Amino acid sequence: MLDKGRYDESKPLDMHNLQFDLAAAKLDLEPWIADKIKHPRRELTVTFPLRRDDGSIQRLTGYRVQHNTLRGPGKGGIRFHPQVDLDEVRALAGWMTWKCAVVDIPFGGAKGGVTCDPGEMTLAEKERLTRRYIWEISPIIGPEQDIPAPDVNTDPQVMAWIVDTYSVFKGHTCNSVVTGKPLSIGGSLGRLKATSTGCVYVLQEAAKHLGLSLEGGSAVVQGLGNVGYHAAELLHDAGVRIVGLSNVQGGVYNPKGMDPRAVKEHFDKTGYLPDYPEADEIGNAELLELPCDALIPAALEGQINLANAKRIQARIIVEGANGPTSPLADDLLKERGVFVVPDILANAGGVTVSYFEWVQNLQKLFWTEDDVNHRLRDIMVRAFGEVLAIAQREDETMRTAAYMLAIGRVAEAKRVRGIFP
Ligand code: NAD
Repeated sequence: MLDKGRYDESKPLDMHNLQFDLAAAKLDLEPWIADKIKHPRRELTVTFPLRRDDGSIQRLTGYRVQHNTLRGPGKGGIRFHPQVDLDEVRALAGWMTWKCAVVDIPFGGAKGGVTCDPGEMTLAEKERLTRRYIWEISPIIGPEQDIPAPDVNTDPQVMAWIVDTYSVFKGHTCNSVVTGKPLSIGGSLGRLKATSTGCVYVLQEAAKHLGLSLEGGSAVVQGLGNVGYHAAELLHDAGVRIVGLSNVQGGVYNPKGMDPRAVKEHFDKTGYLPDYPEADEIGNAELLELPCDALIPAALEGQINLANAKRIQARIIVEGANGPTSPLADDLLKERGVFVVPDILANAGGVTVSYFEWVQNLQKLFWTEDDVNHRLRDIMVRAFGEVLAIAQREDETMRTAAYMLAIGRVAEAKRVRGIFP
């Protein structure tokens, strides 16, 4: 029996390790394989100077961690955020390994980040930061080695700077070095909304499994960024009432429902979300506890924890964010009958369409948006079904079942590849 008290639920790496240990204990793995695949394969820490617009120079620290490359090149986003540290990047890289394995795409897991506050930077400063960070990590990234993508505070424009910087070294355009690019330089149709589209597909599967109808039902979304905004928009268009929305500043609540486009328009115009006039202001903590059919945390890690899990009223949680629920909260949610679709399954739509983008780049082909979404749906629905079957067979949470599926696949790759030399 695992002593969960040994893990600190506020630390993403402890969360990752506990989630791994819980699932690995259910599999009959060779101890050396379990030990090998739990830990990162390669880690790079870089420090570099950023010239600010006022002429001052700031020293920044960045990371790129390749957790596992047994099933294919490393794959994972780049995050710019004050909270970034090596342990957070390790956890995020590990989650990428399991995510790619759950949906069975031929990638390993990686992640990168720079400890910085992009909210205080001009666009020109953000561009210089991106280019220098990429130059620093360029020895270990590449289309066959490790392929970055967007994450918190990085977007298609940042990906375009990465393509340009990397291509300048190589002496030729190399757009398959990142995914999540603008369409004009080899991005894929459907990629911008892919994570959110995937969340909606698994939410539909979860509702079907529980016998709930989503149309006319209600949803709360935390985080109005790439994942949260598009998830809210897609659900609103599908007839779901969006009763709560938030960003880092706070949230808004209207039990009758809100149009996420109007909320975002208000935010874009005024720079402040919580005073959206058609709703009541609400804090992020209260937002998570609102009554609703579906809750989509789409901001940062550790939002649902021992302190608030007993007050969560949602029937289904679809984890748009990585690591939003602590493993100790998982137990409470299970007891209370809340159905959690775990991050490594729920938000795998992003990396799945990133894989499609990479395939299109390598083949110099372009698929239609319908084609992308059909292929995405097939993969998400199949993965959901596989995870649910394990959860039912083993009487486990969807999270432990997803880890069992993913760890089993990565372990098998290690077993057949063996040890060098
Ligand atoms: P983003 O930068 O576009 O948006 C993040 C949003 O979260 C912003 O609205 C921000 O204001 C809000 N936020 C930040 N801190 C908050 C807090 N404490 N409380 C409430 N809101 C807060 O980032 P994103 O790309 O949408 O990523 C969000 C989450 O989804 C992250 O966990 C990321 O790792 C995960 N994710 C992203 C992708 C992707 O394709 N972008 C794919 C898979 C998973």
